Amino acid sequence: MSFVLFVVKFLSRFTNPLPKLGLGFSRKRAGLHNRWFESVAERIGDRLCPLTVIGGLRKVRSVIVGLDIDGVVADFLAPFLLLLEKRLGNGPISEESITDFKFKDHPLISEEVVHDCMQTVSYDPHFWQNLSSMISPSDWQNLENLSRRRQLVFVTHRYVRETYDIHGITCDWLKSHGISKPVVHFTNELKAELVQNLGVHLFMDDRHENCQDVAENTEAVVLMPRRPYNESFSHPRVKKIRDFSELFAHLS
Ligand SMILES: [Mg+2]
Repeated sequence: MSFVLFVVKFLSRFTNPLPKLGLGFSRKRAGLHNRWFESVAERIGDRLCPLTVIGGLRKVRSVIVGLDIDGVVADFLAPFLLLLEKRLGNGPISEESITDFKFKDHPLISEEVVHDCMQTVSYDPHFWQNLSSMISPSDWQNLENLSRRRQLVFVTHRYVRETYDIHGITCDWLKSHGISKPVVHFTNELKAELVQNLGVHLFMDDRHENCQDVAENTEAVVLMPRRPYNESFSHPRVKKIRDFSELFAHLS
């Protein structure tokens, strides 16, 4: 809360009609009164923000985090490998055997089959609805805290199809894990341009191509969660991390 917001909220206590008028004023109306004061305070605070020390500190604190979804918070690979197993009929395929996300040089999987299965899941809303989470409830709570402060955006490569609403499905999935008002952007390009336009300061993606692109074309700090398919990649501006505690350490 900014200093201005604090002062105006404090003053509003003395002008709140509820205590003065007692039964003559409803709780609902008093709530509207307080919300009006808060919205005025926010607007004043925003205008003064660049001009004050407190405003400057607030700006420094307002780091925008940009997160990829699949392979970062949602487990795409496990159900995708199940689909590949069904299609190929050669038995289980371990996640550790996937050392390249394009499945190049895999002993069992051809790029054509991968392309076919990608097309299949891109038209299947149930596939995206049923993905498992890759992070803990406390990680989700920390992300929700960022999201409430408008410091969190999701940036995904998921395909947009005309047959169903992938944006709605993705937002519902994020809401089911505790992000009350998710902000999700879709692109089929490399992500640097979008990340730059969104003003992202801290970016995380499991695909090394995206990490490299953002690291070389924006000022954002780039984090990459360790996965079997990105293990061999290294870049001086891409930091590999084990879990989300390292993301939140950057914000504290
Ligand atoms: Mg990903």
